[in-house]
Amino acid sequence: MNFLRKLVSGKRNRFHYNKYDLDITYVTRRVCGMSFPASGLEQVYRNNINDVAAFLEEKHKNSYLIFNLSCRKYDYKKFKGMVKEYKWEDHHSPAMNVLFEVCQEMFKFLKQNVNNIVIVNCNAGKGRTGTSIASFLMFSGLAENAVDAITYYGWMRFEHGRGVTQPSQVRYVHYFEGVYKRLIKSPSIKILEKIVITTVPKISSDGITPYIEVLSGKDFELIWTNKHSQNLKNYKNNQDSHESKKNQNNREQHLQKIVINIDKDPLLCGDIYFRLLHKGSLKSKLVCRFALNTSFVQDNIYEFTKQTVDPDSIIKDHRISWDFKIQCYFRDFCTKCDPSMDIDNLCSRCVKYMGEEVDSWRIIKDILDKKIPINCETMQYFQEENSSSDYEYDERNQNKKEQDQFYNQAIQKMNQINQQIEEEKEGYNLIPPKKESLNMRDAYSDTEEESNGKHQIIRKVELLQVNDVDQEFELKTGCLRKKSQDFNREKNLNLAKLTQSNAPERYDQEIKSTTFHAKRNTRKPSIQQEYFQ
Ligand SMILES: [Zn+2]
Repeated sequence: MNFLRKLVSGKRNRFHYNKYDLDITYVTRRVCGMSFPASGLEQVYRNNINDVAAFLEEKHKNSYLIFNLSCRKYDYKKFKGMVKEYKWEDHHSPAMNVLFEVCQEMFKFLKQNVNNIVIVNCNAGKGRTGTSIASFLMFSGLAENAVDAITYYGWMRFEHGRGVTQPSQVRYVHYFEGVYKRLIKSPSIKILEKIVITTVPKISSDGITPYIEVLSGKDFELIWTNKHSQNLKNYKNNQDSHESKKNQNNREQHLQKIVINIDKDPLLCGDIYFRLLHKGSLKSKLVCRFALNTSFVQDNIYEFTKQTVDPDSIIKDHRISWDFKIQCYFRDFCTKCDPSMDIDNLCSRCVKYMGEEVDSWRIIKDILDKKIPINCETMQYFQEENSSSDYEYDERNQNKKEQDQFYNQAIQKMNQINQQIEEEKEGYNLIPPKKESLNMRDAYSDTEEESNGKHQIIRKVELLQVNDVDQEFELKTGCLRKKSQDFNREKNLNLAKLTQSNAPERYDQEIKSTTFHAKRNTRKPSIQQEYFQ
């Protein structure tokens, strides 16, 4: 039984405590991710609901709240009703407001009491769980941006570091960053004009008879399709890959294109799903799908590639070329309104046609307006050390002498470095540091977070030797940026190899496609602080 569970949970970082062997991960000290607490046959390969309940009762009695994103119910009585449900389809991205509502509820519960922890579950405890936890890392100020948050979650939860892998879920964590930083503030209506598909996927021996479905991201209601059109055409892939390689310069022009014109001017607003299907003689086959939010459409064109459409497994699909591309062309519904405008300044015509989407964004605005600004103190609060919920505590007691020795050494070394930094600052006239100096708490909480004990203390000390005001600031504020870079450097070798061979630009593209990327390059401590306001 245990063997099977291990096999299915694969490369997850499982949690062992006393008699328990659970698919639960402490992503931070107070935020956990887990797979579905199951009964019946499913418990054989996921978590056993009774084990989870007993474990939580033992370790976090009356101080936990579970977020169930699975769209399935389980026996909530076993958890004394401390479960909140959110609607969110498997392998899909959520509606924008759902992500914010989840974060706010997590934030509220953690703030109530320093002993409180939150646990997020979906089915496998991977994509949806990761999307919300990564968003929460930003919401709580622990991560500065989407890339850091996703990386950190990935390495904490999985040995291979790949946690959130569905491109649309990754995209939505980036969207979250844009909205959280108030760069995007309101919904936007777009009119879909045409969809251009570059290269012809070899779906059947006859090629492909493509059609499109456009659905609402909130309830999957069909908005537009050409499925029943009389003009559906069959396309054959007649691209000679050797020939196109010869023309590297004007390669793009030589690639086959499929143009689907959209009639009836559908108005799109908010979270929208697109599905590209092949109409076979017996039944239709899904080729790929993707989700976008219309507030993030720039210059009225949104482009997707093999690396940025769902599902992530399409990367291995040889029927689809590496030159494959889907471009959605839009037209503005309103020339006055813009998603960077405050929601209260939208014109009345837009508000009328936006319908419920306005309410969703008002919820987001309300959450952000009422949220207390994150500062050094509150960030530390979320990493707060707490012995009663501290799963490393027993082990630490056993090695207490050794730990104390390392701890003292680290502090000594850190004091030396502090002195050095001060001296050098005088010498080079650097930007004056914030008054608060590195103290024992900083060193200890930082290292505790990573759960690897003594080695981490040494590494943090080494990091501090870099006399960079920026980095020092980040260490002080407890940001995960440095950590996620460490993860990348030390553990990312395998991932790098894999993504190089399979998906060379996957994550780059995601980053490039976000509007707020430029801001990160000019990041200064003051700007960084501003982000958290
Ligand atoms: Zn308008």
